Amino acid sequence: MTEKNFIPSRSKRLFYKGLFRLFPNLYWQSYKQKSLDLGLDRLYLILSFDCDTSEDIVAAEQIHNWMLERGLKATYAVPGKQLLEGKEAYRQIADSGGDFINHGARPHTEWRDSRYYSITFYNQLPVEEVIDDIRRGHEMIGEVIGQPPVGFRAPHFGHFQKPSQLALLYSVLGDLDYQYATTTVPWFAREFGPARHTDDMWEFPLSGSYKSPLRILDSWGYLESYGQVRVSERYSQLFIATIDALVSTDIPGILNMYVDPAHVYKNEGFFNAIEHTVAKNVPMLQYADLLELLKQQ
Ligand SMILES: [Zn+2]
Repeated sequence: MTEKNFIPSRSKRLFYKGLFRLFPNLYWQSYKQKSLDLGLDRLYLILSFDCDTSEDIVAAEQIHNWMLERGLKATYAVPGKQLLEGKEAYRQIADSGGDFINHGARPHTEWRDSRYYSITFYNQLPVEEVIDDIRRGHEMIGEVIGQPPVGFRAPHFGHFQKPSQLALLYSVLGDLDYQYATTTVPWFAREFGPARHTDDMWEFPLSGSYKSPLRILDSWGYLESYGQVRVSERYSQLFIATIDALVSTDIPGILNMYVDPAHVYKNEGFFNAIEHTVAKNVPMLQYADLLELLKQQ
């Protein structure tokens, strides 16, 4: 049985984006019901860091230490190639509470002509190479961190969203005894809510902002430019506005946000947004905490 694609046609996508921009509450009320059905009765934030470049090593270390001083924990998605390059730093992060998910083995970016280019797209690789990349990513985390991961996110996951592609991932992950993937775009949440459990595998879609719930709120989408890989002020403004709107309208669920550390570690707004989240009493979880919460239901 093939499942219907949760990303609708282009015309429907434009329709929904326009509709929710005007009436965000229409989106969030349906999201709220799905969260309540899962037993989630308050809002949580999960922050994960996509460490695709060499600069992310020092950036991740700095952010991790800043968070550690405040008793906050995050999750790290580091391709095997980068994990080896930043071995000491990442091991230290893991030893002091950072959680690591499998993000494949091959590098995800390449520096050319004074800018980064994305490389390694699963939709462009033969199936055997995708399977091999997941398995090697798994082994490399075990080797560097010393503990095998139980969660996964595909490289440039937005390009690997078809039900058949997700089914492939879940079957490889199932063989490795994984408990979850967090590899889907916000359209998945529109269909299934903040989490979905099928065939012994949880999926946690990434989140958008309050007024653009279907557009992923990541640092890539809000860069100054590709040459100047720093996030613009718009990013933290949207982050804070989203926390405020959801808290004030009492929407429970999971804000599943990911950023590239190098894009934000010199941006004061990013740290303000985290402090703001804490001040608003929105607990920050790691995926393992979330799994525990969901299993209690
Ligand atoms: Zn990546």
